[in-house]
Amino acid sequence: MRERQGVAVIFRRHLERFGGLRILVNNAGDMVERVPTAETTEALWRSAIDLNLSSVFFACQEAIGPMSAQKGAVSSIFPRSVPGPADAPSRYPITHGFHHEKDGVGLTADEDFLLSLCFCPACLARAAMAGVDGEKARATVKLWITEACERAIPASRWPEFLSAGLDVFQPHPEVYDFVKWRFEPVTSLIGEIRDHAAPSTKIYLIDLKEGWLGGCDVKAAAAACDGAIICGYDMTPDQVTELIAQNRTAVGPDRHLGTGFRVFYPEMRSPADLATRANAARKAGAQSINFYNYGLVPGARLNWVKHAISAASR
Ligand SMILES: [Zn+2]
Repeated sequence: MRERQGVAVIFRRHLERFGGLRILVNNAGDMVERVPTAETTEALWRSAIDLNLSSVFFACQEAIGPMSAQKGAVSSIFPRSVPGPADAPSRYPITHGFHHEKDGVGLTADEDFLLSLCFCPACLARAAMAGVDGEKARATVKLWITEACERAIPASRWPEFLSAGLDVFQPHPEVYDFVKWRFEPVTSLIGEIRDHAAPSTKIYLIDLKEGWLGGCDVKAAAAACDGAIICGYDMTPDQVTELIAQNRTAVGPDRHLGTGFRVFYPEMRSPADLATRANAARKAGAQSINFYNYGLVPGARLNWVKHAISAASR
């Protein structure tokens, strides 16, 4: 789909057959051929750019007309097969797990968190608007990270960080104020999306269990939109039950609460593994169970999802 003409043909055929367009899944991602950078020809490079960018742009152009004419929910989806920003509007810790992203220091959980703090001019200005001195926080965080990088053996300043949370920073008000504030841009962005989306479109936050690590306050975010989907990755059925119960308390009775599972191995070892977790979520009151990351699992495992859905609906 590198050429305008080819994209136009697909849209024309679709509209002839279905009469309208509600959802565009605008997915492209490949390097065309695996060739070392030094040996990549200009033609190959342009072909990759056309495949990855031009195709997506042409499809957007074609979609604007029919999608604008469509009543009801309209959404565009831009999945990628190359690394890019993921769904939760949160900041990342340093350990994304990207290829060749290595940690030789032996970062502790609290240091990983500190490295995810953003002190860019926009963040500093926005924090200042809320009366928070980000520069002062930055100076302290810089000192801590420098010390971490100079130690021969890793040593956590707060070994209890993951269970204690942001409260460990209380003795350092400049940092404590900043990390408490940093939920605000995420919450307000979600609120802006809610305000601008069509009323019939549901806006949910999708996040991991410990969303606070990435700068998401589930309670505030869910209040600013229609609810939350909290991933139930790598959990026992009992942990799934607890996940739904805890998040129900956070989002309240009026907001949607769902969960998500992926059929990764050995996270899920059998159809029954997936089914018992889906059932635990349903019994705990999850209003939606989303299965995804299909593109990353062998086709032979996809029927586990079917099994889980039929077991959960029984
Ligand atoms: Zn920033």
